[in-house]
Amino acid sequence: MSFPERLIKGYRAFLSSRFTAEQSRYRELAEGGQSPEIMVIGCCDSRVSPEVIFDAHPGELFVMRNVANLVPPYTPDGAQRAVSAALEFAVQALKVKHIVVLGHARCGGIRAFADRGEPLSPGDFIGKWMELLTPAAASIGPLRNHSNFADYLNHLEHASAIKTLDNLMTFPCVRILVERNRLHLHAAFFDVATGLLSVFDPEMKIFASVAGAESGRRKLKP
Ligand SMILES: [Zn+2]
Repeated sequence: MSFPERLIKGYRAFLSSRFTAEQSRYRELAEGGQSPEIMVIGCCDSRVSPEVIFDAHPGELFVMRNVANLVPPYTPDGAQRAVSAALEFAVQALKVKHIVVLGHARCGGIRAFADRGEPLSPGDFIGKWMELLTPAAASIGPLRNHSNFADYLNHLEHASAIKTLDNLMTFPCVRILVERNRLHLHAAFFDVATGLLSVFDPEMKIFASVAGAESGRRKLKP
């Protein structure tokens, strides 16, 4: 099986354009190391690359992606935990100033939880991972409380991003820095179809469009 031709072509395009333009930046980052100020926790979904959405340059964003942009609560049990490891490195070593949980519309992971379909494999890794959504689902009530299934999914996508902020605060290293005002947590939401980005306002309890469009304002609960 040959290496995907799409990647060879893409790499050559990168080498002749972006790498050439940003060569000095890459060299500085190689010599001085990375010092991103922002960690983004995003979904694996191929449509929601944080570097693309935020037009980021190399070294600017420390990105961790998993199915449905989730963070399991702090569990110091000695298990090999990818999310906890990335979080620990970002907060303790890189000393990022912001953590952004980036949810998105039409999330397949959220949909899988709502559909409660058959396991994709005997391990049912998706099914077990998506159980992390249970508290967020409880916070928005059952499907019948929502006008339709799409509306339910949308509320669940928003509620999950907010619940993930709560889970971040269960990590002592995060909570201490947040309380000292040295680390700031944010939830944001990207609408794949419209390109609209909204950011959670913890006081108003709404996701408000960063462009300020009234149509982008979304209440947390129905
Ligand atoms: Zn997703």
